Amino acid sequence: MRCFVCKKPTDLKIIRPICKDCFIKLYERKVERLIKKFELIKKGERILVAVSGGKDSLSCAHVLNKLKHLLGFTMECLYIDVGILTCTNERTERVIKKFCEDRKLKLNVVRVKDLLGKKLEKLSKERRRPICSICGVVKRYIMNKFARENGFDKLATGHCADDMVRFFFKNWLGKKFDWIAKLKPIIPSEHPKIVTRIRPLFECTEEENLAYITINNIMIAPCSRCSYFLRRDKWNEILKLIDDKKPDFKINFVKSLEEVELKIKEESKLKECKKCGEPTSEEICAFCKLKK
Ligand code: AMP
Ligand code: ZN
Repeated sequence: MRCFVCKKPTDLKIIRPICKDCFIKLYERKVERLIKKFELIKKGERILVAVSGGKDSLSCAHVLNKLKHLLGFTMECLYIDVGILTCTNERTERVIKKFCEDRKLKLNVVRVKDLLGKKLEKLSKERRRPICSICGVVKRYIMNKFARENGFDKLATGHCADDMVRFFFKNWLGKKFDWIAKLKPIIPSEHPKIVTRIRPLFECTEEENLAYITINNIMIAPCSRCSYFLRRDKWNEILKLIDDKKPDFKINFVKSLEEVELKIKEESKLKECKKCGEPTSEEICAFCKLKK
């Protein structure tokens, strides 16, 4: 095979044959263009990058670190130790620490157990709620609160094209159109206490992130994908089938998501939680309900 850009021989194929050098250049240029097109980051801003130790969030942190001088922003990382043995073992934390040390990036660590006073697994059993939904509530709460209290302008996550396609179908089937409206590269703050979220890898696929990590020799956490999250493999299988027939499906799908305008219903207007003061659409926020 020959690279479709420079015609050098290559054994790498991502939709089309591409050499490693050209792949890295195109990947980084794609992220840079997205950041500029949707004004994800402005000059002088402080960005908090949420890293789980997986290929997607570490790709996100690596590419942002490479672009930070060019685009004139600063960044720190945040790792949330959710305290689930299978996915937050010490090795994950060590991998993230090393990643940040190598790049002289400040790493902030928040431990769920210190905030909730209980392990998520125990809470999940007591509340008879799937651990993934509890974990999601807790992570979103901590990420936003930490970013705001520490003066960050934006919160960046490693969500990528595959996540957007999966979220779309899940929420469409559940008629959660408000959530679909948020499948965008930037989710502007709807409340003074909510930090604007950005998804620099919105147009990158998991396959591209894995190639980016591998070519750059970046070590990822051995078990960064939570074992409780296997259910999403069904979607992976479905996406794989579509991919085989239509390799550019995901990228065209997210580009359409970028353009579609869906209205968020009025009643989803945010208030402040009566207990902790964090933004919520209910009287008491989901985190405080869990804690109680
Ligand atoms: P997930 O919901 O596990 O697919 O993760 C989506 C994004 O949330 C990741 O790309 C990270 O940016 C962020 N994230 C997930 N888990 C953690 C964690 N334990 N600590 C910090 N950020 C996380
Ligand atoms: Zn090339």
